[in-house]
Amino acid sequence: MAAFDVVVLGGGTAGVHVATEVAGGGKTVALVEAGLIGGESAYLACLPSNSLLLSAGRGEPWEDAVARRAEVTGGLDDSAAAQRLSRAGVQVIRGTGRITAPGTVEVTRAQDAPVPAAAGATARRARGPPPLTNAPVSIAPGGARAAPPIEGLSDIPAWTTAQSLSSPDLPRRLIVLGGGPAGCELTQMYASFGSQVTLVEAEPRLLPGEPAFAGEILAVALRRAGADIRLGSRATKAERTADGLTLALEDGTRIDAARLLLASGRRPRLGGLGLDVLGLEVTPGMALPTTTRCEVAGTGGQGVRVWAAGDVTGTTHTHASRYQADVVAANILGRHREADYSAIPRCVFTTPSVFAVGAIPGGAGVTTGAGDGDDPGADHGPGNGGRTRRMLRIARPPSAEAAAEAAAEAAAAEGTAEASPVAQGGSGPRLVTARARLGDTARGYLGQDDLGRLELYADAGTGVLAGAVAVGPDAASWMSEVTLAIRARIPVAVLADVVHAFPTYGEALQTALRELAGTGDSPARADQQEKRTGTLSELDIETPEDDAIEQRQEVIADEAVASPRREVPFDVNEADAAEQERAVGFDDDDYR
Ligand SMILES: Cc1cc2nc3c(=O)[nH]c(=O)nc-3n(C[C@H](O)[C@H](O)[C@H](O)COP(=O)(O)OP(=O)(O)OC[C@H]3O[C@@H](n4cnc5c(N)ncnc54)[C@H](O)[C@@H]3O)c2cc1C
Repeated sequence: MAAFDVVVLGGGTAGVHVATEVAGGGKTVALVEAGLIGGESAYLACLPSNSLLLSAGRGEPWEDAVARRAEVTGGLDDSAAAQRLSRAGVQVIRGTGRITAPGTVEVTRAQDAPVPAAAGATARRARGPPPLTNAPVSIAPGGARAAPPIEGLSDIPAWTTAQSLSSPDLPRRLIVLGGGPAGCELTQMYASFGSQVTLVEAEPRLLPGEPAFAGEILAVALRRAGADIRLGSRATKAERTADGLTLALEDGTRIDAARLLLASGRRPRLGGLGLDVLGLEVTPGMALPTTTRCEVAGTGGQGVRVWAAGDVTGTTHTHASRYQADVVAANILGRHREADYSAIPRCVFTTPSVFAVGAIPGGAGVTTGAGDGDDPGADHGPGNGGRTRRMLRIARPPSAEAAAEAAAEAAAAEGTAEASPVAQGGSGPRLVTARARLGDTARGYLGQDDLGRLELYADAGTGVLAGAVAVGPDAASWMSEVTLAIRARIPVAVLADVVHAFPTYGEALQTALRELAGTGDSPARADQQEKRTGTLSELDIETPEDDAIEQRQEVIADEAVASPRREVPFDVNEADAAEQERAVGFDDDDYR
């Protein structure tokens, strides 16, 4: 029986990262992988999907895009990744691992397990690997798509996202089931290459886990790309036809297509891991409960530590998997480290893209995680992090009450070009919202951006940002300062004093931040004074207003030392906002 200091179960993003870091720290490490070393992200999810989206954006023909995808994913050959691990000192064992006792992992040889790889990918299979014992185990088996309850599904031509992203076929007519991040990305991608795409989403809007405006704007963008978007009706029955299939929705609609792409119902992969021998009871759809140190909750006291990272814990993004892997590795190496989930970005790489981070109004707030596989948003989408990750759940769509509140706010904002802070309730922190439209910035005007918009959510109790959602070109890039602000808990008053380059989308952030801090001074602002509930500085709440003012004064004082501060009006855009709005011809009705 081979003994290692650490055994890593699953060699995707999280597993490879844990193994490499821990080996680098001087431990002996075995990594057990049933499929491709590197997991989904590199071969069957993020990279091929983003490669195809970028090819579509460049206007490449499908064949060229597929060739580029093959280049990016290395032709599904993971031998280079396996070699990198070996060079890092990790022993790679090809096969399916199962925990048979605390600290013991048995491996079934790879040839008995499905390996979705081309020739070469399976070259390094181990022959009859022995059980691995007496080691802390790091579990990182990722997630998998669960079949939705549709009658006849097994009889029709259907793809999982992984199958679609490794197929050379471009279906003439395609139904995408699920309006979460992957469903939206794949809809736009196939529509851009000329497929006639119908997206079916049971919820009344796309991206159900995010604030309504994000999904509403995306629906406009996807329709402009030529896709047919069917919201609010569940698919119930599928039948094979001579040309492919017919999908029936509960509202009576029937849709014909050559193929169905399943982009809903992703869930943590917990089956077959042997978690019962650790005393863990798992049910389909649940995520592996972990502590802030990423140790599997309820496994202490067995003499061997068990850790977990990646989608199996309910996170839904590659960067979140890597972050947790860092935390696991640090703890295994004896450096106490806790994960902070307050600012894990959630991205949709459509055009325009969607970027969300932290808490959202009506969502589960900063104390929640992600991972209910039945939620169509549970692709690589929503997943508001919480400091304690126990039973991880995806942020739910707002309740009827919260939805009505949001609608009322949207109505109040109608016809204005300004951010309009509104205090909102909910189960998490009390949030104050400020909004801005990208079309009101010079960059948006130049780019003729009539859709882009952002919302910032500040914690009324602490005066720091708690979350944000933006829709716009490459939003992940220019919103990254918000991620930093949330994670570093920088007071809104300080953020409002940050200078953003002209002409950039950062100026929309500036507008919203100043509105939150109560320092905006645009022409439309005076009109809004009546409408809004209050800014952080105006609300009679625990806002550390004095602290904020002090900090603002400190910033100004610091600036005075570094360079004389020139008092100028906030920005050119705000003065020109009304003019620009007319010029761009923005119309809220476009997406409401
Ligand atoms: C279509 C799509 C697009 C996406 N796009 C993005 C994106 O743009 N950005 C982003 O951040 N995220 C994206 N994601 C999410 C991202 O792919 C995942 O968050 C990430 O891959 C999770 O990594 P992981 O290590 O937890 O799991 P995985 O990468 O799934 O790795 C788990 C590995 O464990 C192996 N395994 C499982 N069970 C066993 C066992 N018993 N024994 C041995 N091995 C086992 C599996 O074979 C697998 O290789 C996307 C997801 C999808 C579906």
